Amino acid sequence: MDFSALRSSLSSFRDSANTFLSQFEPLALLALPLLTVFLASGIRSCLSYVSDKGLKNAVISLFMSSVKLIPGVRRYIDAEKQKVVDQLQSSGNSKRDSWLKELPLKGLQGGVIDKLKQEKSNDAPWQGKCSGTVYIGGSESEGHFSIINEACSMFAHTNPLHLDVFQSVVRFEAEVVAMTAALLGSGEKDSAGQICGNMTSGGTESILLAVKSSRDYMKSKKGITRAEMIIPESAHSAYDKAAQYFKIKLWRVPVNKEFQADVKAIRRYINRNTILIVGSAPGFPHGIIDPIKELGELASSYGICFHVDLCLGGFVLPFARKLGYPIPPFDFSVEGVTSMSVDVHKYGLAPKGTSVVLYRNHDIRKHQFVAGKTLSVLT
Ligand SMILES: *Cc1c(COP(=O)(O)O)cnc(C)c1O
Repeated sequence: MDFSALRSSLSSFRDSANTFLSQFEPLALLALPLLTVFLASGIRSCLSYVSDKGLKNAVISLFMSSVKLIPGVRRYIDAEKQKVVDQLQSSGNSKRDSWLKELPLKGLQGGVIDKLKQEKSNDAPWQGKCSGTVYIGGSESEGHFSIINEACSMFAHTNPLHLDVFQSVVRFEAEVVAMTAALLGSGEKDSAGQICGNMTSGGTESILLAVKSSRDYMKSKKGITRAEMIIPESAHSAYDKAAQYFKIKLWRVPVNKEFQADVKAIRRYINRNTILIVGSAPGFPHGIIDPIKELGELASSYGICFHVDLCLGGFVLPFARKLGYPIPPFDFSVEGVTSMSVDVHKYGLAPKGTSVVLYRNHDIRKHQFVAGKTLSVLT
């Protein structure tokens, strides 16, 4: 290689570049790149703000922020907010005067039960009157409730973490999961005997776990690191919690005229970061079943996860179908369904604090577990 030729062409390039640049002020040469970087980063933040919030929401919040710049407007809004806070606090305060704020100096001993009875007598009469709050009929001291109470008191001391000590509870969990799965399609041939799950403390926890598992499954399967999920507007607020806890961008898509998930609208939000779509069977606000089969087809065609929220319907729909009601497909027999949440503590008629999360296969469920590497995780 001829280095002297290379050197001379480099130096002539340098000379002509310097001659060209000498017509500009040195300060301008310094300021221009800085200004460009500054401008580019401004444009980038604007774009990412719009992509985070959606164009409509971005415009609305820009408008609201500018309205607040008008003198007096912010002060007025703050004063109105304070009024609401004051009202909320004052209504609770007088009632709370008699509440314990520290451990009593002397123990209450047997008086505890009397005190509980007295406080309980102030609760609203709920028997048979609180739809969506208490799912079991009758009063808490008879019928199905007395069985629940007796069973709970037999196992109140157990710690299911210690499988070796409480084998009974471990067996019960496995049986509840298996029986729930059997109602929801685990017996189907093409489920390949892979459907699995766990008991949780409620629908919200089942949903949180399903979303977390889907996020990590899609990260390992497709390398998605900026996860997004799409849910119908009618879906439960647990998905907002999941999105916040697990740093997932959430798109809530308006429902159609029948208050069902709008499959076409949902499709428009799918992009390469989408990990999950959701359908409810039925949703809590309207009691309406989303088009699960169509959503399953959509999820399959894009290779993304699909969670069916059966918190409310899991122990109703299988029996309604058996009774001959025309129930559309809603369970693991639908291709594309990857997980489900089913509340035992709703129409499973179990005590509060029990739900089941189910997965299509072990490959998804393994992302639910957290593996610790140090001894401290055992404490
Ligand atoms: C009840 C319900 C939930 C959440 O359940 P919790 O047990 O209250 O946490 C989620 N989705 C639907 C459709 C529900 O009905």
